[in-house]
Amino acid sequence: MQIRIAGLVSESYVDGDGIRFAIFMQGCLRNCAGCHNPETHSLDGGQLIDTAEIIAAIKKNPLLDGITLTGGEPLLQLDAANELAQVAKRLGLTVWLYTGYTFENLPPDATTLLENVDVLIDGAFVESQRDLDLQFRGSRNQRIIDLKKTRAQNKIVLWSEIGG
Ligand code: SF4
Repeated sequence: MQIRIAGLVSESYVDGDGIRFAIFMQGCLRNCAGCHNPETHSLDGGQLIDTAEIIAAIKKNPLLDGITLTGGEPLLQLDAANELAQVAKRLGLTVWLYTGYTFENLPPDATTLLENVDVLIDGAFVESQRDLDLQFRGSRNQRIIDLKKTRAQNKIVLWSEIGG
C-alpha cells in the first residue's frame, strides 16, 4: 500500500516512550499558528513510498519499543495508518498516535485504527499554550491518553510513565 510521508526516524527517543520508529505522515489541513512541521502540510508534498518498505525497516530493529504515527495528520491516510498499526501490534510493539483531533471529536472511521493504538496524543498545537517543558507534546491543551485504560474504564485516563 502506498503512503505519503514527510519523513521517517528509525530510532526516535522524543516521539513517545522508549525507542520508537516514527512515521511523519504527509498532509495536514489545520494550519495551526506556530506549527513546527509546516513542510508536512501539503497534501501532495513529501514522498510516496510503499508501506512494505517501512514494515521491513521496523522488523529489522529488535530494539524498538514501538512505532509512532505522527505528521502532518495521520488520520488523513487511514488505510496506511491502519496497516502499520496492525503490523506493529502483531510484532508486539506499542503504537502511539498524534492527531489534531481531540479524543471527543475523533472521526468514526478511525475506530479500527484506534483499536490498535495504545497511546493517543490528541488535539492540535495551540501556540498560546505552548510549553517547552511538556513531555512528548508541544502545548498544554494536548493530552497523552492511555487508550487501553480509557476503553477499560470508559473515561479518559492519561498515560503515565510509571506503569504507562
Ligand atoms: S495539527 Fe499538527 S501538523 Fe497540523 S498544522 Fe497543527 S501542529 Fe501542524
